[in-house]
Amino acid sequence: MKDCTVIGGGPAGLNATLVLGRARRNVVLVDSNEARNKVTQEAHGFITRDGVKPSELRELAHQEFRKYKTIESMEDKVVEIMKGNESFTIKTEKGQEWLTRKVILATGVKEEFPNIPNLRDYYGKSIFNCPYCDGWELRDQPLAVFGIVDYTLHMTEVLRNWSQDLVVFTNGEELSKIQAEKFKKLQVQVETNPVRLLKGSDGMLHSIELENGQIVERSGGFVTPELVQSTELGMALGVKLTDQGGHQCDHAGKTEIHGLFVAGEASTIYPSQLIIAAGSGAETAMAVNVELTHEGILGSN
Ligand SMILES: Cc1cc2nc3c(=O)[nH]c(=O)nc-3n(C[C@H](O)[C@H](O)[C@H](O)COP(=O)(O)OP(=O)(O)OC[C@H]3O[C@@H](n4cnc5c(N)ncnc54)[C@H](O)[C@@H]3O)c2cc1C
Repeated sequence: MKDCTVIGGGPAGLNATLVLGRARRNVVLVDSNEARNKVTQEAHGFITRDGVKPSELRELAHQEFRKYKTIESMEDKVVEIMKGNESFTIKTEKGQEWLTRKVILATGVKEEFPNIPNLRDYYGKSIFNCPYCDGWELRDQPLAVFGIVDYTLHMTEVLRNWSQDLVVFTNGEELSKIQAEKFKKLQVQVETNPVRLLKGSDGMLHSIELENGQIVERSGGFVTPELVQSTELGMALGVKLTDQGGHQCDHAGKTEIHGLFVAGEASTIYPSQLIIAAGSGAETAMAVNVELTHEGILGSN
């Protein structure tokens, strides 16, 4: 029987695994390696790792795990979690099955993009979702902002700190009077015509072609995708989602299902940052360790 199974090997799951390993817990990390930041070459804002490739950050974490004999990790996808009296049964896509006392869901979120053709070709290279992550690299450039108007309003306001040459593309959504006034106050151009195609090469944006034939030159931009939980594993066990889209839990990730915890963007989606997800993973791991200790289960190695 495992003390804890961590599902998801992004920063939340990795940090949770490290803390549990150091707490002498038999922990298994299962990761399907499909994190949404895989598309980007560099991740920023994580102290001592500013500019690190996301895959390198993961590799470094796995190197650190080798010191701790109670940590096991595998590339696989959890397809089912069954709750028993004192434990859970975990089942994976590759046909593995085991018992575990506790589970941490660190499965992150997935992105639903506005309906703009070929936007994904540029995502992670010259179009990003978070100014705190990639605003510095695009500073003072002519930028595009894509997304649902209400979301782009906040994004545009914040982005003006990095570039004041902004054009918002609503992709056919018309502005209300209030929205139009807000954009006017921000002195930002808004194009409501649907986007026909993004143009550029190797993921680097040059211009945006609208349905009316107009071409607007832009060298990069930001999009505000909708972020939704990447798995229904928690919901299948009865955990509800908050209005913000995270799983309902206490401050340390404990859900109402005894033994089931959530960390990273599985618990709180915003602000969406590696270091915040990693911190959440660490805190959740400590809560798991305390619960095991209270139940009389001590570190085994
Ligand atoms: C393009 C882009 C650029 C970004 N740049 C930055 C940046 O520069 N700086 C920054 O701080 N943040 C950045 N972020 C945000 C950052 O990536 C996230 O905040 C962070 O990765 C969230 O961590 P997490 O551990 O909660 O989830 P994730 O990193 O998303 O990890 C979740 C993991 O769970 C796995 N998983 C899901 N379901 C299952 C399952 N059923 N079984 C097994 N495994 C499963 C997935 O494969 C994935 O590996 C960026 C995001 C994107 C999309």
